[in-house]
Formats: sequence, structure tokens, C-alpha cells
Amino acid sequence: MTTKEPAPSRRKTWQKEAVLKELASSSGFVSAQQLHQILTQNGTVIGLATVYRTLNSLVSDGLADSLVNNNGENLYRDCSKDHHHHLICNSCGVAVEIEADEAESWASKIATEHGFTDVSHTIEIFGVCGKCSAK
Ligand SMILES: [Zn+2]
Ligand SMILES: [Zn+2]
Ligand SMILES: [Zn+2]
Repeated sequence: MTTKEPAPSRRKTWQKEAVLKELASSSGFVSAQQLHQILTQNGTVIGLATVYRTLNSLVSDGLADSLVNNNGENLYRDCSKDHHHHLICNSCGVAVEIEADEAESWASKIATEHGFTDVSHTIEIFGVCGKCSAK
């Protein structure tokens, strides 16, 4: 659990918007470094630490999804707000949002069996997408 930070000042707003805009135009998950590179290439003067901070605040505000890939890298995406899972390409980073009804019922069943309440889960499926494997 992270400690509550004070509400972002007006000065920070454009940075949040710039990060969110780039995130929305990406088809897949991107790392903070990749996003920082894109922003810099587009002429946005922003520090990598600010990109990290902004991404994390977007995640805690529920405006972005984050996950850790097989290399232990944190990746971010502007996702739909409803609970869902992802298929992620290890090669190009493209993400497919999937619903997994079987996983939802399995997760709640197993939690109930063990007396757990207030449960949540994260399921991400990594692989190589059709486009990449055709190359
Ligand atoms: Zn998503
Ligand atoms: Zn791919
Ligand atoms: Zn689920």
C-alpha cells in the first residue's frame, strides 16, 4: 500500500495529460522508458522520474493498467475500466483484452474454500502474437 500523496498541483496537470495521451495512442503495453522516449521525441520536456511518478498515480487513480512482464519490467496501458485480463505479445508488446468468466468463478470458489474474503486477482497471459510468429 502506498501512502496517500497530496493532490497534484496545477503545475503537474499537463504532464499527466501528456502521459495519458501517449498511453492512449499506444496499441499495447509500454514501459516508462519507452513512454519517456516517445514523449521526448515529440518535443515534450519531461523527466523519466516524472513519467514514472505520473504513471503510478494514473494506475492508483484507475486510469491505467500496469503489469510486470517476464523480464520483471513494469508495463503500462490505458485500458478499459472493467475488470479484465490480457494476452500480451513478448515480441511487439501488443495486448488483447480478454474476459475470463471461468477464471472469475474459479478464483471466487477457491477463495471461499479457504475462507478468504475481499479477494482480487491478476491474470496475464504472455506469448508471441500471430503477426510476430508469422515473421
Ligand atoms: Zn487492460
Ligand atoms: Zn507481437
Ligand atoms: Zn479476473
